[in-house]
Amino acid sequence: MSHRGHVPTRMCVGCGGRAPQDTMLRMMATPNGELQVAAARPPMGRSGYLHRSVVCWERFAARKGPLRSLGCSIGKAERRALVARLKDGGADAKVREDGAQTRT
Ligand SMILES: [Zn+2]
Repeated sequence: MSHRGHVPTRMCVGCGGRAPQDTMLRMMATPNGELQVAAARPPMGRSGYLHRSVVCWERFAARKGPLRSLGCSIGKAERRALVARLKDGGADAKVREDGAQTRT
């Protein structure tokens, strides 16, 4: 029922796998190097995507080196903080709200 043309896929910054964009968790880097879970459409292109899977979040937090999709190097502490927020469920719930809004 949800075949509205072509659904773009995005690469998960945790495992490197691909999935339809709208099934993934989106995050973006702020100019001061913080990470935040982004709403359905971030203002600019500097965003990264994660599967909705704790395994991928952990891999993302443990990664070394800059994240090309985010256009900058995000410190491990900052990534861990984001993952902690995701596990807490707060950020995830917010994203789901946004998703519901765009869908209805
Ligand atoms: Zn993944």
